[in-house]
Amino acid sequence: MRESMLELAPEDILAALKHRGARRLKRVALRGNRSTIWSLTQGGTVLNLHEAYRFAPDAVLAAFALIVKKGGRRCAEVSEAQRVVREWPGLRPGLEAARSAKHSLRHRGCAGPGESVAYCCGTPRQRAYIRALYRYLNETRFEGALPDDVPVRLSSRMTSRLGHMTPGFTRQRGRFVVEIALNVDLMLEGNGFERLDTLLHEMAHAADYLTDGGLSHDEGWQAWARRVGCRAESRYERPVVRRRRRSDPVTRVPPLPPALRERMSLWRKTA
Ligand SMILES: [Zn+2]
Repeated sequence: MRESMLELAPEDILAALKHRGARRLKRVALRGNRSTIWSLTQGGTVLNLHEAYRFAPDAVLAAFALIVKKGGRRCAEVSEAQRVVREWPGLRPGLEAARSAKHSLRHRGCAGPGESVAYCCGTPRQRAYIRALYRYLNETRFEGALPDDVPVRLSSRMTSRLGHMTPGFTRQRGRFVVEIALNVDLMLEGNGFERLDTLLHEMAHAADYLTDGGLSHDEGWQAWARRVGCRAESRYERPVVRRRRRSDPVTRVPPLPPALRERMSLWRKTA
């Protein structure tokens, strides 16, 4: 996703570093690593950078140019450059986002690397349902703390996972929520409690991330979970109804909560 003029493509970074004297460099690759922030490989000709560096300012680019120029040799100048790139404030949110994306693979779920963020397997009516439910919960449980326009989608590719929240960060926008995704099985009959609880669970992640940068099931998330009334646990132990075969389409649209149904019929009357 390219968002702003400030976002650099790998070729832009390569050109900038060469311009600053890193002439041996042939390629720059951006990676969503959890902890490695950069590495110089293939005899010092390939620089692998954490993707957070696509928003790197000049001072950080200059430091990388020096690191590449010195080709891994140690000296005071290189140590200082390493400190500059390591302590650049834009790095932390990017690392946290990468960690959380992988972390969520292990608990309630995640769109794996192969799953498109934009793809929703839901029908138009299911999408309208999930959107109405999100807005209703945001208003009644979160006191409107979340943005109205967070993409919420259904996924038919999650297996044991029930949902996930994907955090995003750009220098221009700051923290934002890329999407919340729910396992489409949650639309099946018998999963009413799990559907509501999982959506609240992921919305609590969104609120924790947006307000405090939290990306775990620690105190910050737990406080939100208690406040909005979902189970403050990362694992879900209750049985969930599953579709029989993974290829079975799920088109069911569950009934909306009675209070929301009432409100929607009121909207219709006044519209
Ligand atoms: Zn979670």
